[in-house]
Amino acid sequence: MKDAPLILTIGYDQRSADDFMALLRMHAIAFLIDIRTSPWEPERPEFSQDALADSLWEQGIRYVFMGDALGAQPDDPACYVDGRVSFARLGKQEAFLQAVARVQKAFEQGLRVALMDAPVRPESSHRSFLIGAILTERGAPVQHIDETGALKSQADVASSSPVAPAPAPIPAGPANIDSARELLKTVFGYDDFWPLQAEIIENALARRDTLVIMPTGGGKSLCYQLPALLFDGLTVVVSPLISLMQDQVEALRQAGVAAAFLNSMLDFDSYQRITRQVRAGEMKLLYVAPETLLQARTLALLDASRVQMLAIDEAHCISSWGHDFRPEYRQLLSVRQRYPQAVCMGLTATATPRVQRDIQEILGFEDANAFVASFDRPNLHLAVQRRTDGLKQTLAFLQAHREQSGIIYCSTRRQVDTLSEQLRLLGWHALPYHAGMEKADRERHQRQFVRDDVPIMVATIAFGMGIDKSNVRFVLHYNLPQNIESYYQEIGRAGRDGLRADCLLLYNQSDMRMIRHFIDEGADSERVGRLQRLQAMADYAQAGECRRVPLLAYFGEAYEAESCDMCDNCLRQETGQALADATIPAQMFLSCVKRTGEYFGKSHIIKVLRGSQSKPVLSRGHHNLSTYGIGAEYSRREWLHMAEQFIEQGLVVQDAEHGSLSLTAKGYQVFKGEKVFITPLPQAEITPAAGISGDMAYDSELFGQLRALRKEIADEVGVPAYVIFSDRALQEMATFYPQSNEHFLAMNGVGRAKLERYGQRFLDMLRDYCQARDLPERPKALSPAARSRSGAKRRFEEVGEFYLAGQTVKALQKLYGVKRDTIIAHLQRYRNAGHALDADRILDASRLTPEQQARVLAKFQALGMDKLSPIYNVLGQRISYEELRIMKLYLLCGGELPGSGAPD
Ligand code: ADP
Ligand code: ZN
Repeated sequence: MKDAPLILTIGYDQRSADDFMALLRMHAIAFLIDIRTSPWEPERPEFSQDALADSLWEQGIRYVFMGDALGAQPDDPACYVDGRVSFARLGKQEAFLQAVARVQKAFEQGLRVALMDAPVRPESSHRSFLIGAILTERGAPVQHIDETGALKSQADVASSSPVAPAPAPIPAGPANIDSARELLKTVFGYDDFWPLQAEIIENALARRDTLVIMPTGGGKSLCYQLPALLFDGLTVVVSPLISLMQDQVEALRQAGVAAAFLNSMLDFDSYQRITRQVRAGEMKLLYVAPETLLQARTLALLDASRVQMLAIDEAHCISSWGHDFRPEYRQLLSVRQRYPQAVCMGLTATATPRVQRDIQEILGFEDANAFVASFDRPNLHLAVQRRTDGLKQTLAFLQAHREQSGIIYCSTRRQVDTLSEQLRLLGWHALPYHAGMEKADRERHQRQFVRDDVPIMVATIAFGMGIDKSNVRFVLHYNLPQNIESYYQEIGRAGRDGLRADCLLLYNQSDMRMIRHFIDEGADSERVGRLQRLQAMADYAQAGECRRVPLLAYFGEAYEAESCDMCDNCLRQETGQALADATIPAQMFLSCVKRTGEYFGKSHIIKVLRGSQSKPVLSRGHHNLSTYGIGAEYSRREWLHMAEQFIEQGLVVQDAEHGSLSLTAKGYQVFKGEKVFITPLPQAEITPAAGISGDMAYDSELFGQLRALRKEIADEVGVPAYVIFSDRALQEMATFYPQSNEHFLAMNGVGRAKLERYGQRFLDMLRDYCQARDLPERPKALSPAARSRSGAKRRFEEVGEFYLAGQTVKALQKLYGVKRDTIIAHLQRYRNAGHALDADRILDASRLTPEQQARVLAKFQALGMDKLSPIYNVLGQRISYEELRIMKLYLLCGGELPGSGAPD
């Protein structure tokens, strides 16, 4: 069909006039349209307008010059952006559109048309390419005659054209780490890279295939998103999790990045729109499900695009050693081979060395290009409690996390139903989620949770896969998980925004029994492995050392810091709450149980010990017992706390029906001097963080207003609230009171696009709020929050600096939302690190009378400062360890010892 209508493009630069004419004849061209800037050519007179028109006339070919309409004139600034012809702008020019219409018309009239520009390589002629693209779009297929005389499709040219239009909304600088850092701020609003991000990005920009192993929340996405913005072409992201894909694309769009996804759920119109954008080279990131990627039409689309990078998320799915092997992932290898020019990045949060090796081998990555981040998540506070009264403990925990969003994991569906119902009855806004529910209900609940319509999700482990919600502030495990992998994955859903999040694990022996039962019922071959993993989990729960040690050891990582500052055990150490010697109170308690005839429950025993005047005590004559009132120095709450542990340790047994206590053999040993140790009463076990995070004192009223505004906007736009701004961003606003665009941009997570989109509304609110209260802007760098996640400063250093800057211990307590003892511990560490502190100001924190202080100091002088317990004892256990530590710090900082005549 040699004579069917057709549009060709042709160049002449390195061609003789004869060759040029021969090509036109060969393709039976009837109409030559000259699209050069100017119709004359001093070097090649045979191609000037008149000469050309002449020779074409001889061949019976019509000639017209349309370069002024179909190309951008160098003196027409309307068509140029940053010195480059802008396709978008050129495409809007009236003259251009008319000229295109004319070409199209010729085609529709059945003519064979050729567009002529100078370059012989079609890739080098932006005109041929751009006009070709627009005509193709309009259904008039264009072919390009290349430098060898062969025909190339528009798609072929698109994939190799250095002048392919890339009207990226984001000006890409040179593809190096500095421009990546700049985009980190301008697009994503972040100040600094997290660990390994910079190295990984650099590696990818150098076009080396890269394996990224990072824990959930470690910041994997930016590792390919930033290179994608810097590459001149398309990045294809393969991800098996459709909901995650949607969230990520939404977040990228909000940041002004051209991104989209292709999956089976897409309607026809969206599909068309997206593929059109991809073809036009306007898309930066295209997310696809693996099975979609493998479809012929997707591959054809990519063939016609310039694929620069292939990012394989959840890369462990490629390994049959992984916990989530997917056969279609293996086929990604063929896709990788199909686009050899594209750099490949594999990402996963599954760290076992075997899976890692497997991924590397299958993808053919070199060792040097594997980046394994630490699995430590320093912003997760880890705590474990024995479950004595699950509901009560849960309520206390929730109380400390009011207004926050979190997940409660239960081990059975029934428990999920029961607990969520109980919470609802008690006025908590909680929803259930488990695999036994209707799919539609499950999805609705998940949506409500993700969108912050409902803060609490009570769920089995079925929940959480693919949840990208960044402001999950707590994860409570109501039971012991079966292994550390699952536990780690579940707590990993908390605190993805880098802010403090609290993870509390409740467990008791019955959990162990239940899991063992499951294991016994499972396959024989798996029993040993599963039991070992359960044991590792139990060891974690019972650990007395920093929780991060066993947790990270499980992933092959040694945790070396002396204290993490963020687990129950470390905080207990720091605040001197290590196991306490409770032998004396235990003796009092047991003796009272004995003397009342082993007939009463703990609350009566405690009344007697505390010298209660109540009727049940007096009427039974218990005020005459020798144990009456001997325990008055402990509060009822302290006694209850101790009594529970005496029961747990088996010193007494409790009658199941009446609750009456009786002594055991082990209990009798205590009278013979056997020591009893207990965990001290948790004064603020779950440090109820001031507001949302534990580490920032911000204006909670303003925060509340900002949050409401965020929700309002999110609902308008139809996205989850955290996609607009993270909690962290709002907290910074409520701390620094930004009132100018510039200052607003300095907030965490505020990039250019978000400033443009939402800046006005937030700034209006901030200005109104601050003007009404006369609040000035605060420079950002002074805040501890500005430094937190970067790891540049440790908490005790911040505290020390604030203290030196004149903050009192009390103010610091408030700032960080922690106890006095914790601040003192930080100051102590700060001093140990070699900083000088003013001793007299330390005394301001003491609550002792001057006489008491003098007495303590004298004891320090006599007994030394190494150990506090002798001093505690010699002072009759009347002065708390906390006060002793303050006095010790005072001395360490050079405080005066009393003279020799000090009172004793
Ligand atoms: P992952 O995929 O590893 O689980 P994400 O890529 O989703 O983690 O990142 C978790 C969160 O941390 C996201 O909200 C992301 O925007 C944010 N984040 C990533 N890198 C940084 C950074 N350098 N500074 C601040 N926030 C970051
Ligand atoms: Zn710790």
